[in-house]
Amino acid sequence: MQQDLANRIVLITGASSGIGAATARELAARGATVVLGARRVDRLDALVAEITGTGGRAEARALDVVSADEVQAFADHALAAHGRIDAIVNNAGVMPLSPLSARKRDEWDRMIDVNIRGVLHGIAAVLPAMEAQGFGHVINVASIGAHQVFPTSAVYCATKYAVWAISEGLRQETTTLRVTVVSPGTTTSELADTITHAGAAEGMRDFRRITIAPEAIALAIAFAMSQPADVDVSELIVRPVASP
Ligand code: NDP
Repeated sequence: MQQDLANRIVLITGASSGIGAATARELAARGATVVLGARRVDRLDALVAEITGTGGRAEARALDVVSADEVQAFADHALAAHGRIDAIVNNAGVMPLSPLSARKRDEWDRMIDVNIRGVLHGIAAVLPAMEAQGFGHVINVASIGAHQVFPTSAVYCATKYAVWAISEGLRQETTTLRVTVVSPGTTTSELADTITHAGAAEGMRDFRRITIAPEAIALAIAFAMSQPADVDVSELIVRPVASP
């Protein structure tokens, strides 16, 4: 087992499936203590049992990132238990795609709440502790949708452009913290399950014909975290290619 992240205290939001769960496994395998949050606690508990069963360190708490209070309590709990927070992976996200003409206002709000406010809540929850420590790493999961807009994905991409902008703004405002924005291409996960618009779901099935495993994104996050303390990997874009 590599131990390059030994004893790091790492918070991960949206850890109950996909990229978040893969990241929890990868970081724990490298020696980090992972503090996992999501709404599906049964999934988190199973993941904690899996990680601790193989000698890793993991704990979980129910977390809805839409609630600033819940995210603050999540971070406060980790700080009280471990004395510091080395990193947070703001990963929780939803992607109910649809054309703007469908006027799915509730789904627009949901994406704004989870994908933008959730990331802001994560940053706000850890910033005082990280600034007091004089170190810390904020890793925000954006998307290739932070760089390109696709039909039916205007609002989703807007939220990911926002995650990119928030990450860049935070990076410019700090000299002591590391800030990384990770932008995955199509990755195997449950993300497309949130699409309720039939046409958008069909388009996504075609778009997602080539995907990479969530472990590929976990490796990118681990790479950024494993750099020397004075090295900030500001952005990683990780896309699939067709395998031979
Ligand atoms: P999944 O749907 O597998 O995972 C999403 C995670 O977010 C789940 O753990 C879910 O947990 C959590 N989540 C959703 N809403 C909330 C909430 N309100 N509070 C807390 N947690 C929440 O998809 P991915 O693993 O693919 O997505 C992870 C991130 O990667 C997202 O930000 C997504 O936008 C981004 N991404 C994914 C790509 C892909 O192709 N898969 C490509 C580019 C970016 P629960 O439901 O238990 O709360």
